[in-house]
Amino acid sequence: MNAEHTLQCDLLLRNARYLAPDMTIKEGQDIAVCGGRIAGIAPAQENRFCARETIEDSRLLWMPGLIDGHIHTSQQLLRGRLLDEKPVIWKRVNVPFESRLTEETSRLSAQLAAMEMMLFGTTGFVDAGGKYPEVFAQVYDDAGLRGRLSVMTNDNPHAPESLRAPSVEAGVERLRAMKRALTGSLLRPIYSVTTPTAVSEGLLRAVFEAAAEDDVPVETHLNEYASEVTEFIERTGERPFIWLEKEDLLRAPLLAPHCIFLSPQEIGVLARHDVRVAHCPFSNCGKGAPQTPQLLASGIHVGLGSDGAAHGGLDLFREMRLFRGVMNVTRGIESADSCVMPAETLLTMATQGGAAALFEEETGRIETGMLADLIALDTDAPHLWPTQNLVHSLVESASGADVRHMIVNGRLLMKNRELLTIDADRVRHEAKRLFEREPWLCRW
Ligand SMILES: [Zn+2]
Repeated sequence: MNAEHTLQCDLLLRNARYLAPDMTIKEGQDIAVCGGRIAGIAPAQENRFCARETIEDSRLLWMPGLIDGHIHTSQQLLRGRLLDEKPVIWKRVNVPFESRLTEETSRLSAQLAAMEMMLFGTTGFVDAGGKYPEVFAQVYDDAGLRGRLSVMTNDNPHAPESLRAPSVEAGVERLRAMKRALTGSLLRPIYSVTTPTAVSEGLLRAVFEAAAEDDVPVETHLNEYASEVTEFIERTGERPFIWLEKEDLLRAPLLAPHCIFLSPQEIGVLARHDVRVAHCPFSNCGKGAPQTPQLLASGIHVGLGSDGAAHGGLDLFREMRLFRGVMNVTRGIESADSCVMPAETLLTMATQGGAAALFEEETGRIETGMLADLIALDTDAPHLWPTQNLVHSLVESASGADVRHMIVNGRLLMKNRELLTIDADRVRHEAKRLFEREPWLCRW
C-alpha cells in the first residue's frame, strides 16, 4: 500500500491478537488508535496504518478493559476488616468508618484504588459515592481512568452526622454541586442514595426525580439482603422495584448494584425500564445467588462489580471465576446444566455489561469507532499457555496480575506493569506515613 493511503494514528497495536465483541479471538490484526478512539482494524499484511508509537508482541492478547460496575473508593482502607463480620456490615462497620474519612484519607483511598484497578486491568468504574467525590475526581482524573462518581446521600437520623444530609433539599443540592464540579474529564456524575430503606421516602423520591430532571443516572443498593426487601414491603406494601415503577420514579436511568432477591414481577420491571445491574460475586456469597440466567434471558444488562477492596480486592478476573462457581453450584445444579454461565457470557458481563453499568456504551468492545479503553494480557505464562481454548482460560486461569499494558481513551496508563500516571512509590510512602499518624485507619 502506498504511503498516501496509510492512515497516521497515535498508537498502533501491530500484528495483534484480540478478543472481538462476539468473544472470539482474532489474530494478525493491526489496531489503530487515534484521538482516543479505535480508528481502524485491518489485517496486518495490509499495512494500512502508521503511528508515532507501536506495540508489537506476539505473546499479548488485547481485550477491552474491564469495567467495575460497583466500587466503594471510601472503603479502600477497610481491606481485611470485613471477611468474617456478621451482617449487616454496612450499617455497623462501613458507614461509621466512612464518616471519619478526611479529604487527606479520601485522596489516599482513591490513589490506592486507582493503582489497584490499573494493575488489575480495570479501565472504568462506577463509584458508590463518598464524602469528597471532588477529591476522588482529582485523583482519578490525574490517573486517566474513566468512571462515574457520586455522593451517597443519606438523611437517616441514625446516620453519622458527617454523612447525613440535613434536609432533602440539601441532599439534592450536594449531588448537583458534585455534577457541576465534574467537567472536562473522563469522569461523569451519577446520583446516589444509600439504600431505599436507609433514607426517607422524601429523599428517595427527590434524588430519583433530580436524576430524571438533570439527565443523570442514579444508583442505589437494591435487593441485596432479603431482610431489606421485607423491610421495604413493611414500609410501602410493595417490593422495591414494583414500588419504584408504580411511583413513576424509573424515568431516570437506574444502576442497581447486587439485585440478588428479585421476584418474577420485579425482573419484568428491570427489563421494561432497562435497569442496569451490577452483581458483586465475592461480596454477595454470604447473602445469596442471583437469578442471572433469567435476567440475561430477559434482555437485562448485567455487569460485575467488586463492591470495593474491602470485599476481597478489585480483581474482576477473580470475580468472573468466582461467579462461574457460584452459578454452577446454584443455577447449574438446579437445572442440571453445568454451562449455565459460559466463559463468553462472563467476559461479556465484565466488559460490555460493565459499559452498560457505566452508561458509556461506546466502550467495552474492540471495534472501529469505539473509545480506546484496552488492556493487554501476557498469555505466555504457564497458567495460560498452552491452552486449547484461550477464552476459557481467561475465566479459569487468568488474573489481574497477567495484565501488562493499559490504554484508556487512547492514552497509555500502564506499560509493562509500570504505572505511567501515578507515582506508586510516593503513594506507598504517603500511605505509610498516614497509617503511622492515624493508627485507627488500620484498626477499625
Ligand atoms: Zn456497595
